[in-house]
Amino acid sequence: MEETETGRRFDQLLEKNNLKKTQPRLSVLKVLASRKTATSQPALEEILGAEIDRVTLYRVLRTFEEKGIIHKVIDLNGTANYATCDESCTEHAHDDRHVHFNCTHCLHVYCLDSLHIPALTMPAGFTASQMNLIVYGICEECNEKER
Ligand SMILES: [Zn+2]
Ligand SMILES: [Zn+2]
Ligand SMILES: [Zn+2]
Repeated sequence: MEETETGRRFDQLLEKNNLKKTQPRLSVLKVLASRKTATSQPALEEILGAEIDRVTLYRVLRTFEEKGIIHKVIDLNGTANYATCDESCTEHAHDDRHVHFNCTHCLHVYCLDSLHIPALTMPAGFTASQMNLIVYGICEECNEKER
């Protein structure tokens, strides 16, 4: 039941963005939406296995990012991690104003949706197109393991 509803939501999301419903696109959405942390391309390759080849995956991620469906967070190692967007994101206008957390221990990247970044007024002559606030530290899971 829930499975079908999530599936329908993904269908609608692709439709809204004039994207054809393809299996690779649906699979990537499903994986990203189901994970607690942002996911890197190598991790996606591992999870999806033979389902998608590397070039297709790269294209799907790029299209989703352009359309405002997913956003990218660069972690401590310089690796791009992807997470699904807030609904307010649109094509070429990301509006993910939440804080990101990069654990220095497990390297996972979390979207802290409950932490909002306030609107920042840029100095004269500067135009902002995207914003990213990353907090580094130890995540909940690693802290728990320590105990
Ligand atoms: Zn976004
Ligand atoms: Zn951690
Ligand atoms: Zn995020």
